[in-house]
Amino acid sequence: MQPTIVSKLPHVGTTIFTVMSQLAAEHGAINLGQGFPDFPMSAALTGLVSKAMQEGHNQYVHMNGLPALREALAKKASRLYQAAIDPNTDITVTPGGTYAIYTALTTVLQPGDEVIVFEPAYDCYIPTIELNGAKAVTISLKYPDYSIPWDTVKASITPRTRMIMINTPHNPTGAVLSAEDMKALSAITAGTNILILSDEVYEHLIFDGIAHQSILRYPDLYARSFVCFSFGKTYHCTGWKLGYCIAPNHLMQDFRKIHQFNCFTCDTPKQVALAAYLQNEADYLNLGTFMQAKRDYFRTLMEKTPFRCVPSHGSYFECYSYEGFSKETDKELAIRLTKEYGIATIPVSSFYRDGEDNKVLRFCFAKKEETLEKAVSKLTSLK
Ligand code: PMP
Ligand code: GLN
Repeated sequence: MQPTIVSKLPHVGTTIFTVMSQLAAEHGAINLGQGFPDFPMSAALTGLVSKAMQEGHNQYVHMNGLPALREALAKKASRLYQAAIDPNTDITVTPGGTYAIYTALTTVLQPGDEVIVFEPAYDCYIPTIELNGAKAVTISLKYPDYSIPWDTVKASITPRTRMIMINTPHNPTGAVLSAEDMKALSAITAGTNILILSDEVYEHLIFDGIAHQSILRYPDLYARSFVCFSFGKTYHCTGWKLGYCIAPNHLMQDFRKIHQFNCFTCDTPKQVALAAYLQNEADYLNLGTFMQAKRDYFRTLMEKTPFRCVPSHGSYFECYSYEGFSKETDKELAIRLTKEYGIATIPVSSFYRDGEDNKVLRFCFAKKEETLEKAVSKLTSLK
Protein backbone atom coordinates (compact mmCIF):
# COMPACT_ATOMS: atom_id res chain seq x y z
CA MET A 1 0.00 0.00 0.00
CA GLN A 2 1.26 3.48 -0.88
CA PRO A 3 1.48 5.79 2.12
CA THR A 4 -0.75 8.86 1.86
CA ILE A 5 -0.42 12.36 3.22
CA VAL A 6 -2.92 15.08 3.97
CA SER A 7 -1.87 18.06 1.87
CA LYS A 8 -1.18 21.25 3.79
CA LEU A 9 -1.88 23.23 0.61
CA PRO A 10 -4.72 21.30 -1.01
CA HIS A 11 -5.79 24.17 -3.29
CA VAL A 12 -2.34 25.15 -4.53
CA GLY A 13 -0.85 24.05 -7.86
CA THR A 14 2.53 24.90 -9.42
CA THR A 15 3.46 28.60 -9.32
CA ILE A 16 2.45 30.56 -12.43
CA PHE A 17 6.09 31.62 -12.95
CA THR A 18 7.18 28.02 -13.50
CA VAL A 19 4.07 27.20 -15.53
CA MET A 20 4.66 30.09 -17.95
CA SER A 21 8.45 29.57 -18.15
CA GLN A 22 7.87 25.91 -18.98
CA LEU A 23 5.30 26.79 -21.64
CA ALA A 24 7.73 29.36 -23.07
CA ALA A 25 10.48 26.72 -23.26
CA GLU A 26 8.15 24.18 -24.90
CA HIS A 27 7.13 26.66 -27.60
CA GLY A 28 10.48 28.42 -28.02
CA ALA A 29 8.81 31.68 -26.91
CA ILE A 30 10.60 34.81 -25.67
CA ASN A 31 10.07 34.81 -21.92
CA LEU A 32 8.77 38.15 -20.63
CA GLY A 33 6.86 36.21 -17.95
CA GLN A 34 8.93 35.17 -14.94
CA GLY A 35 10.97 38.09 -13.59
CA PHE A 36 14.67 37.72 -14.31
CA PRO A 37 17.19 39.73 -16.33
CA ASP A 38 18.66 38.26 -19.53
CA PHE A 39 21.74 40.53 -19.42
CA PRO A 40 24.91 39.67 -17.51
CA MET A 41 25.51 40.66 -13.89
CA SER A 42 28.62 42.58 -12.81
CA ALA A 43 31.86 40.79 -13.75
CA ALA A 44 33.53 42.57 -10.82
CA LEU A 45 31.05 40.93 -8.44
CA THR A 46 31.42 37.42 -9.89
CA GLY A 47 35.19 38.00 -9.74
CA LEU A 48 34.92 38.77 -6.03
CA VAL A 49 33.01 35.49 -5.48
CA SER A 50 35.75 33.49 -7.25
CA LYS A 51 38.39 35.33 -5.24
CA ALA A 52 36.55 34.59 -1.97
CA MET A 53 36.39 30.87 -2.85
CA GLN A 54 40.04 30.77 -3.86
CA GLU A 55 41.03 32.53 -0.66
CA GLY A 56 39.32 29.80 1.33
CA HIS A 57 36.03 31.39 2.43
CA ASN A 58 34.22 28.09 1.99
CA GLN A 59 33.03 27.07 5.45
CA TYR A 60 29.96 28.02 7.48
CA VAL A 61 29.69 31.71 8.09
CA HIS A 62 27.93 33.11 11.20
CA MET A 63 24.29 31.94 11.27
CA ASN A 64 23.00 35.53 11.16
CA GLY A 65 25.20 36.41 8.17
CA LEU A 66 28.79 37.53 7.63
CA PRO A 67 29.40 40.34 10.18
CA ALA A 68 31.10 42.57 7.57
CA LEU A 69 28.09 42.21 5.27
CA ARG A 70 25.65 43.06 8.06
CA GLU A 71 27.74 46.10 8.92
CA ALA A 72 27.71 47.25 5.30
CA LEU A 73 23.92 46.80 5.16
CA ALA A 74 23.39 48.75 8.39
CA LYS A 75 25.52 51.61 7.03
CA LYS A 76 23.53 51.57 3.80
CA ALA A 77 20.23 51.75 5.75
CA SER A 78 21.60 54.68 7.71
CA ARG A 79 22.73 56.57 4.59
CA LEU A 80 19.65 55.90 2.48
CA TYR A 81 16.91 55.93 5.08
CA GLN A 82 18.49 57.57 8.16
CA ALA A 83 17.68 54.34 10.04
CA ALA A 84 19.50 53.28 13.19
CA ILE A 85 19.94 49.56 12.48
CA ASP A 86 22.11 47.43 14.76
CA PRO A 87 24.01 44.97 12.54
CA ASN A 88 24.36 42.51 15.42
CA THR A 89 20.74 42.30 16.44
CA ASP A 90 18.58 43.61 13.58
CA ILE A 91 19.83 41.94 10.37
CA THR A 92 19.74 38.30 9.28
CA VAL A 93 21.03 37.16 5.90
CA THR A 94 18.69 34.64 4.26
CA PRO A 95 18.63 32.43 1.17
CA GLY A 96 16.47 34.90 -0.76
CA GLY A 97 13.63 37.30 -0.06
CA THR A 98 11.03 34.52 -0.25
CA TYR A 99 12.68 32.70 2.64
CA ALA A 100 12.80 35.93 4.65
CA ILE A 101 9.04 36.35 4.10
CA TYR A 102 8.36 32.71 4.97
CA THR A 103 10.41 32.93 8.15
CA ALA A 104 8.87 36.23 9.29
CA LEU A 105 5.33 34.88 8.82
CA THR A 106 6.19 31.59 10.53
CA THR A 107 7.80 33.47 13.41
CA VAL A 108 4.68 35.38 14.36
CA LEU A 109 1.56 33.62 13.11
CA GLN A 110 -0.63 31.53 15.39
CA PRO A 111 -3.63 29.51 14.20
CA GLY A 112 -6.62 31.78 13.66
CA ASP A 113 -4.59 34.98 13.25
CA GLU A 114 -5.60 37.28 10.40
CA VAL A 115 -3.17 38.88 7.96
CA ILE A 116 -4.25 41.70 5.67
CA VAL A 117 -2.91 41.11 2.17
CA PHE A 118 -3.36 43.40 -0.82
CA GLU A 119 -4.22 41.79 -4.14
CA PRO A 120 -2.80 41.35 -6.68
CA ALA A 121 -0.34 39.70 -4.24
CA TYR A 122 3.03 38.08 -4.88
CA ASP A 123 2.32 34.38 -5.05
CA CYS A 124 4.05 33.12 -1.89
CA TYR A 125 2.17 35.37 0.57
CA ILE A 126 -1.19 33.63 0.99
CA PRO A 127 0.05 30.00 0.93
CA THR A 128 2.62 30.84 3.62
CA ILE A 129 -0.03 32.48 5.79
CA GLU A 130 -2.27 29.43 5.38
CA LEU A 131 0.53 26.94 6.08
CA ASN A 132 0.80 28.61 9.47
CA GLY A 133 -2.91 28.06 10.18
CA ALA A 134 -3.66 31.76 9.82
CA LYS A 135 -6.18 33.48 7.58
CA ALA A 136 -5.43 35.87 4.72
CA VAL A 137 -7.88 38.77 4.65
CA THR A 138 -7.57 40.03 1.08
CA ILE A 139 -8.20 43.59 -0.08
CA SER A 140 -8.11 44.48 -3.79
CA LEU A 141 -5.90 47.40 -4.77
CA LYS A 142 -7.88 49.97 -6.78
CA TYR A 143 -7.59 49.24 -10.50
CA PRO A 144 -6.09 50.83 -12.60
CA ASP A 145 -3.64 52.74 -10.35
CA TYR A 146 -3.48 49.90 -7.82
CA SER A 147 -3.57 52.27 -4.84
CA ILE A 148 -4.43 51.05 -1.34
CA PRO A 149 -8.02 51.76 -0.21
CA TRP A 150 -7.11 52.77 3.35
CA ASP A 151 -10.76 53.10 4.47
CA THR A 152 -11.29 49.44 3.57
CA VAL A 153 -8.12 48.53 5.47
CA LYS A 154 -9.38 50.35 8.55
CA ALA A 155 -12.74 48.61 8.28
CA SER A 156 -11.05 45.20 7.95
CA ILE A 157 -9.14 45.38 11.25
CA THR A 158 -10.45 42.94 13.87
CA PRO A 159 -9.12 41.80 17.24
CA ARG A 160 -7.48 38.90 15.34
CA THR A 161 -5.51 41.12 12.92
CA ARG A 162 -1.88 40.15 13.50
CA MET A 163 -0.20 41.68 10.51
CA ILE A 164 -0.49 43.89 7.42
CA MET A 165 1.69 43.00 4.42
CA ILE A 166 2.89 45.70 2.05
CA ASN A 167 5.06 45.53 -1.07
CA THR A 168 6.66 48.61 -2.62
CA PRO A 169 7.61 48.84 -5.48
CA HIS A 170 4.88 46.35 -6.14
CA ASN A 171 4.93 43.08 -8.04
CA PRO A 172 3.07 42.63 -10.40
CA THR A 173 1.83 46.22 -10.96
CA GLY A 174 4.83 48.49 -10.42
CA ALA A 175 2.74 50.67 -8.08
CA VAL A 176 4.72 52.44 -5.35
CA LEU A 177 3.62 53.63 -1.93
CA SER A 178 3.81 57.36 -1.11
CA ALA A 179 4.62 59.19 2.13
CA GLU A 180 0.84 59.64 2.49
CA ASP A 181 0.38 55.86 2.37
CA MET A 182 2.96 55.45 5.11
CA LYS A 183 1.11 58.05 7.20
CA ALA A 184 -2.12 56.10 6.75
CA LEU A 185 -0.37 52.88 7.78
CA SER A 186 1.01 54.62 10.88
CA ALA A 187 -2.39 55.95 11.83
CA ILE A 188 -4.02 52.52 11.49
CA THR A 189 -1.37 50.60 13.44
CA ALA A 190 -0.47 53.16 16.15
CA GLY A 191 -1.34 51.89 19.61
CA THR A 192 -2.22 48.38 18.33
CA ASN A 193 -0.41 45.07 18.48
CA ILE A 194 -0.44 44.79 14.67
CA LEU A 195 2.83 43.88 12.95
CA ILE A 196 3.92 44.80 9.41
CA LEU A 197 5.74 42.76 6.81
CA SER A 198 7.25 45.04 4.19
CA ASP A 199 8.48 43.37 1.01
CA GLU A 200 11.04 45.78 -0.43
CA VAL A 201 12.93 43.49 -2.81
CA TYR A 202 12.61 46.16 -5.56
CA GLU A 203 13.81 49.04 -3.33
CA HIS A 204 16.29 50.31 -5.96
CA LEU A 205 14.13 49.60 -8.99
CA ILE A 206 12.07 52.77 -8.67
CA PHE A 207 11.47 55.32 -11.43
CA ASP A 208 10.25 58.81 -12.31
CA GLY A 209 12.31 60.47 -9.57
CA ILE A 210 10.18 58.89 -6.83
CA ALA A 211 11.90 58.21 -3.49
CA HIS A 212 11.43 54.68 -2.14
CA GLN A 213 9.27 54.77 0.98
CA SER A 214 11.09 52.18 3.02
CA ILE A 215 9.64 51.24 6.38
CA LEU A 216 13.18 51.92 7.60
CA ARG A 217 12.52 55.67 7.20
CA TYR A 218 9.80 55.55 9.86
CA PRO A 219 10.96 54.56 13.37
CA ASP A 220 7.36 54.10 14.64
CA LEU A 221 6.59 51.68 11.79
CA TYR A 222 9.97 49.95 11.96
CA ALA A 223 9.33 49.06 15.62
CA ARG A 224 6.57 46.66 14.44
CA SER A 225 8.07 45.46 11.14
CA PHE A 226 9.96 42.76 9.33
CA VAL A 227 11.50 44.29 6.20
CA CYS A 228 12.56 41.84 3.46
CA PHE A 229 15.16 42.41 0.73
CA SER A 230 16.79 40.43 -2.11
CA PHE A 231 20.35 40.70 -3.45
CA GLY A 232 19.11 38.82 -6.53
CA LYS A 233 17.08 41.87 -7.61
CA THR A 234 19.70 44.49 -6.79
CA TYR A 235 22.61 42.77 -8.51
CA HIS A 236 20.91 41.08 -11.51
CA CYS A 237 21.50 37.60 -10.09
CA THR A 238 18.10 36.13 -9.20
CA GLY A 239 19.67 32.66 -9.27
CA TRP A 240 21.88 33.50 -6.30
CA LYS A 241 18.88 33.30 -3.98
CA LEU A 242 20.38 35.52 -1.33
CA GLY A 243 18.56 38.19 0.63
CA TYR A 244 18.07 39.50 4.14
CA CYS A 245 15.56 40.56 6.72
CA ILE A 246 15.81 43.67 8.89
CA ALA A 247 13.67 43.79 12.04
CA PRO A 248 14.06 45.24 15.53
CA ASN A 249 15.76 43.03 18.09
CA HIS A 250 12.53 42.08 19.92
CA LEU A 251 11.16 40.59 16.68
CA MET A 252 14.43 39.37 15.16
CA GLN A 253 15.26 37.19 18.16
CA ASP A 254 12.42 34.81 17.34
CA PHE A 255 13.00 35.03 13.58
CA ARG A 256 16.51 33.70 14.26
CA LYS A 257 15.18 30.84 16.40
CA ILE A 258 13.35 29.57 13.32
CA HIS A 259 16.11 30.43 10.84
CA GLN A 260 18.72 28.44 12.81
CA PHE A 261 16.78 25.20 12.38
CA ASN A 262 15.82 25.76 8.77
CA CYS A 263 18.80 26.76 6.64
CA PHE A 264 20.95 27.90 9.63
CA THR A 265 23.37 29.89 7.47
CA CYS A 266 23.82 30.99 3.83
CA ASP A 267 26.42 30.83 1.08
CA THR A 268 29.75 32.15 2.44
CA PRO A 269 31.71 33.23 -0.67
CA LYS A 270 28.84 35.34 -2.00
CA GLN A 271 28.52 37.12 1.35
CA VAL A 272 32.25 37.87 1.39
CA ALA A 273 31.96 39.24 -2.16
CA LEU A 274 28.86 41.33 -1.41
CA ALA A 275 30.41 42.85 1.74
CA ALA A 276 33.17 44.28 -0.47
CA TYR A 277 30.95 45.12 -3.45
CA LEU A 278 28.38 47.02 -1.36
CA GLN A 279 30.98 49.77 -0.84
CA ASN A 280 30.35 50.57 -4.49
CA GLU A 281 27.27 52.75 -3.86
CA ALA A 282 26.91 53.98 -7.44
CA ASP A 283 25.99 50.47 -8.53
CA TYR A 284 22.69 50.39 -6.64
CA LEU A 285 22.07 54.13 -6.72
CA ASN A 286 22.06 54.10 -10.56
CA LEU A 287 19.83 51.08 -10.82
CA GLY A 288 16.56 53.04 -11.03
CA THR A 289 17.82 55.10 -13.99
CA PHE A 290 19.17 51.99 -15.71
CA MET A 291 15.91 50.06 -15.37
CA GLN A 292 13.70 53.07 -16.11
CA ALA A 293 15.40 53.35 -19.52
CA LYS A 294 14.32 49.76 -20.18
CA ARG A 295 10.76 50.48 -19.07
CA ASP A 296 10.61 53.56 -21.28
CA TYR A 297 12.04 51.73 -24.28
CA PHE A 298 9.58 48.86 -23.81
CA ARG A 299 6.69 51.30 -23.42
CA THR A 300 7.56 53.06 -26.67
CA LEU A 301 7.78 49.73 -28.49
CA MET A 302 4.42 48.63 -27.06
CA GLU A 303 2.72 51.72 -28.52
CA LYS A 304 2.78 49.89 -31.87
CA THR A 305 0.61 47.10 -30.43
CA PRO A 306 -3.08 47.14 -29.46
CA PHE A 307 -2.17 46.88 -25.73
CA ARG A 308 -2.83 49.83 -23.38
CA CYS A 309 -0.20 50.64 -20.78
CA VAL A 310 -1.09 50.51 -17.07
CA PRO A 311 1.90 52.61 -15.93
CA SER A 312 4.56 51.10 -13.68
CA HIS A 313 6.72 53.25 -11.39
CA GLY A 314 9.06 50.52 -10.19
CA SER A 315 10.03 46.80 -10.22
CA TYR A 316 10.86 44.68 -13.27
CA PHE A 317 7.32 44.80 -14.56
CA GLU A 318 4.71 46.77 -16.44
CA CYS A 319 1.11 45.67 -16.89
CA TYR A 320 -0.83 46.11 -20.12
CA SER A 321 -4.58 46.02 -20.66
CA TYR A 322 -6.05 44.13 -23.61
CA GLU A 323 -9.63 45.09 -22.87
CA GLY A 324 -9.76 47.05 -26.13
CA PHE A 325 -9.17 44.06 -28.39
CA SER A 326 -10.11 40.78 -26.72
CA LYS A 327 -12.72 39.23 -24.47
CA GLU A 328 -10.52 36.27 -23.56
CA THR A 329 -9.57 35.62 -19.93
CA ASP A 330 -6.05 36.78 -19.15
CA LYS A 331 -4.93 33.14 -18.80
CA GLU A 332 -6.36 32.26 -22.22
CA LEU A 333 -4.62 35.21 -23.82
CA ALA A 334 -1.29 34.50 -22.05
CA ILE A 335 -1.39 30.92 -23.34
CA ARG A 336 -2.37 32.00 -26.87
CA LEU A 337 0.43 34.59 -27.00
CA THR A 338 2.97 32.00 -25.90
CA LYS A 339 1.84 29.31 -28.32
CA GLU A 340 0.89 31.39 -31.37
CA TYR A 341 2.98 34.56 -31.09
CA GLY A 342 6.05 33.22 -29.28
CA ILE A 343 5.93 35.57 -26.29
CA ALA A 344 5.31 34.56 -22.68
CA THR A 345 3.75 36.91 -20.11
CA ILE A 346 2.05 36.47 -16.73
CA PRO A 347 -1.76 36.74 -16.38
CA VAL A 348 -2.40 39.11 -13.47
CA SER A 349 -5.46 37.13 -12.27
CA SER A 350 -2.95 34.58 -10.91
CA PHE A 351 -2.15 37.09 -8.17
CA TYR A 352 -5.74 37.05 -6.87
CA ARG A 353 -7.15 34.26 -4.73
CA ASP A 354 -10.55 34.47 -6.43
CA GLY A 355 -9.01 34.94 -9.91
CA GLU A 356 -10.18 38.58 -10.33
CA ASP A 357 -9.51 39.35 -13.98
CA ASN A 358 -9.07 43.00 -14.99
CA LYS A 359 -7.87 41.89 -18.42
CA VAL A 360 -4.22 42.75 -17.89
CA LEU A 361 -1.00 40.87 -18.55
CA ARG A 362 2.32 41.48 -16.77
CA PHE A 363 5.43 41.93 -18.92
CA CYS A 364 9.00 41.77 -17.56
CA PHE A 365 11.11 44.49 -19.22
CA ALA A 366 14.37 43.65 -17.38
CA LYS A 367 15.81 42.45 -20.68
CA LYS A 368 18.32 43.45 -23.36
CA GLU A 369 16.93 45.96 -25.86
CA GLU A 370 17.17 43.39 -28.63
CA THR A 371 15.06 40.94 -26.60
CA LEU A 372 12.39 43.59 -26.06
CA GLU A 373 12.45 44.53 -29.76
CA LYS A 374 12.10 40.91 -30.88
CA ALA A 375 9.32 40.25 -28.40
CA VAL A 376 7.25 43.30 -29.25
CA SER A 377 7.68 42.84 -33.01
CA LYS A 378 5.73 39.61 -32.58
CA LEU A 379 2.81 41.53 -31.08
CA THR A 380 2.31 44.23 -33.69
CA SER A 381 0.09 41.98 -35.83
CA LEU A 382 -1.98 40.94 -32.81
CA LYS A 383 -5.77 41.11 -32.93
N1 PMP B 1 8.92 39.44 -3.23
C1 PMP B 1 8.60 39.84 -4.46
C2 PMP B 1 7.54 40.87 -4.63
C3 PMP B 1 9.23 39.31 -5.58
O1 PMP B 1 8.90 39.71 -6.80
C4 PMP B 1 10.23 38.36 -5.37
C5 PMP B 1 10.85 37.83 -6.61
N2 PMP B 1 11.51 37.07 -6.83
C6 PMP B 1 10.55 37.96 -4.06
C7 PMP B 1 9.87 38.52 -3.02
C8 PMP B 1 11.57 36.93 -3.75
O2 PMP B 1 12.88 37.22 -3.97
P1 PMP B 1 13.99 36.08 -3.95
O3 PMP B 1 14.17 35.62 -5.35
O4 PMP B 1 15.19 36.75 -3.37
O5 PMP B 1 13.47 34.98 -3.06
N1 GLN C 1 9.68 37.20 -8.55
C1 GLN C 1 9.68 36.65 -9.84
C2 GLN C 1 8.43 37.05 -10.59
O1 GLN C 1 7.54 37.63 -10.06
C3 GLN C 1 9.83 35.16 -9.95
C4 GLN C 1 10.24 34.38 -8.78
C5 GLN C 1 9.75 32.97 -8.92
O2 GLN C 1 9.78 32.42 -10.01
N2 GLN C 1 9.27 32.43 -7.85
O3 GLN C 1 8.33 36.72 -11.73
